[in-house]
Amino acid sequence: MPVISAPTLCSLSPSTWAWTHNRTDWGYSNSGLVASQGEALLVDTQFTLDATRRLLAAVEEICPLGEVGIVVSTHQNGDHTWGHQLLPLAEIITSEASAGSRCHEMGPKELALLASSPSPTGAAAYVVEHFGHFDFSGISVMQPTRTFRGREEIKVGGTVVELIDLGAGHSAGDVAVHVPDERVAFAGDALFGDAHMVVWSGSLSGCITACQALLDTGADVFVPGHGPLLSRAGVTAIRDHLCRVRDEAAACARRGVPMSDAARLIKASHAGTWAHPERLFTQVAAAYAEAGVPGVPVSTLAMVDGMASLAV
Ligand SMILES: [Zn+2]
Repeated sequence: MPVISAPTLCSLSPSTWAWTHNRTDWGYSNSGLVASQGEALLVDTQFTLDATRRLLAAVEEICPLGEVGIVVSTHQNGDHTWGHQLLPLAEIITSEASAGSRCHEMGPKELALLASSPSPTGAAAYVVEHFGHFDFSGISVMQPTRTFRGREEIKVGGTVVELIDLGAGHSAGDVAVHVPDERVAFAGDALFGDAHMVVWSGSLSGCITACQALLDTGADVFVPGHGPLLSRAGVTAIRDHLCRVRDEAAACARRGVPMSDAARLIKASHAGTWAHPERLFTQVAAAYAEAGVPGVPVSTLAMVDGMASLAV
């Protein structure tokens, strides 16, 4: 395990930067910046106001904050959106599917309440362990101001930026930001570096399709939602790993193996070295749901409960 250091804003290409954390635990999300000729676009903010202030201080060394006219939300999870209020004049863009899923998300007050449960068990204990140290005070969740479907090309100064609606995969609606001329793609949580994917949408096939769509952009550098930058080989490895989990889970479903047993079996054989192997529960649940197995849990709380039971 490397020593945890402060996040940094590193240059990827003439007009792109990535804000990355060298840790893979919950809540430490990456952001991105595209800045060119007096205009800038931010890809996601951070989980808390303090974390977003640190990001914006680093952005200000590249360009004045007033130039950040657009914030793209890759999806609606709080670790990517709860700092948006610190850019009150910016347009907030996401896909229609992503915007539509916002009402199903846990808000900062609910999460803070769950993360401070006095004698937690199961899902609540998992939330306390992983989220109890964050300060969610002062957060107002901002609505997207514009949505799109499919693909939309915009210009940030002299740089062409393609917004890609990846559909349901990690979340009910994931968005990637692609800078074609510089072969850089910001993937949000359609990709996790050095950690297992968590599937909130119930669609493991959607996660696999999203990996392929990202590879199909032709980009060479991928900024995942969490963890270190990825090469094409890294994205291919994630896609192939998800395919193996899908195939093995489908085989278990055909044999009538109960879903929680299948999750244990698959964790034993596919945990590898990536962080959070308990997230395989969400992948197996999605594969079971897609295989048509009745009674598969789908709610956020059921997913957290499943991960909590697989973590021990
Ligand atoms: Zn995230």
